[in-house]
Amino acid sequence: DLLVVGSANADLVIGVERRPGAGETVLGSDLAVHPGGKGANQAAAAARLGARTALLARVGDDVYGRLLLSSQHAAGVDTVGVLVGGAPTGVALITVDPSGDNSIVVSPGANARLAPEDVAAAGSLLCAARVVSAQLEIPVETVAEVVRNLAPEVRFTLNPSPPAPLPAELLHACDPLIVNEHEARVLLGPRAPADGGPEDWARALLRLGPRSVVITLGAAGALVVEGSAPGSAREPVRVPSVPVKAVDTTGAGDAFAAALAFRLSTGDDLPTAAAFAARVGAVTVTRHGAQESFPTAAEVAEPDTV
Ligand code: ADP
Repeated sequence: DLLVVGSANADLVIGVERRPGAGETVLGSDLAVHPGGKGANQAAAAARLGARTALLARVGDDVYGRLLLSSQHAAGVDTVGVLVGGAPTGVALITVDPSGDNSIVVSPGANARLAPEDVAAAGSLLCAARVVSAQLEIPVETVAEVVRNLAPEVRFTLNPSPPAPLPAELLHACDPLIVNEHEARVLLGPRAPADGGPEDWARALLRLGPRSVVITLGAAGALVVEGSAPGSAREPVRVPSVPVKAVDTTGAGDAFAAALAFRLSTGDDLPTAAAFAARVGAVTVTRHGAQESFPTAAEVAEPDTV
């Protein structure tokens, strides 16, 4: 059983020939509205794979909040922990030009109001989970409250996106900390190895205090390093990718994090869970969109789909 704690956004997308400058108006395509936000994406991805998944999040009492609730239901997510009201639903206003470049304005809205008290009130959801997974599109203090309320046997995973400074108590709970190269660079700051490879980055991240680290490397797969038990220093393990024709990488990181948390909740060790997550990420990039692109377990298992 998996609990995802995180954001839920409506992504409002308009195609434009070029983006407007200050004081300018441009005409665009018809509006497309997609359910998004890293929390909602991860919950939908995990449920699609067959995980028993609940989401702890906050949406507004408005049309986008209802869209997000219905898309979570459709994916099979338990939404008893989705709180309603307090501010408008989070929205991402996205314009995309013909080259595929986009400009995005995010209004966090209700996501910014998911408060530490909301976590304390969701105690039964936290107790029911084997793995709790979080990201950073909600307040860091709320995520810190999650780790304070975890039972010792519950595993916690964090994808620190968008990257922000992490308090030590949060870092120490991560098992694993899941980052892409950009997030790794921001978290390490001046401690980043000057010219090392991903293995050096993984070791440097482990020194920040998490119990384990996974670095996702896009088409190159991922890298796993676990904190060493006394006397048994562990070496970073490369997780190969699956060669695919990528058409849209949106949601790949969310699908990877969700699949990893799911497999950890079923008892896989970290390298095995990461290998499965890499296959899920690979299928996701062969399809357009975020939540629309998440595969079922059967689609991941069929070798010719990837
Ligand atoms: P993010 O979207 O957070 O930047 P990545 O780009 O590293 O994360 O992608 C997450 C995972 O998705 C990768 O570890 C890999 O397993 C898979 N993936 C991403 N891009 C590709 C690709 N072009 N080919 C195959 N797998 C990919």
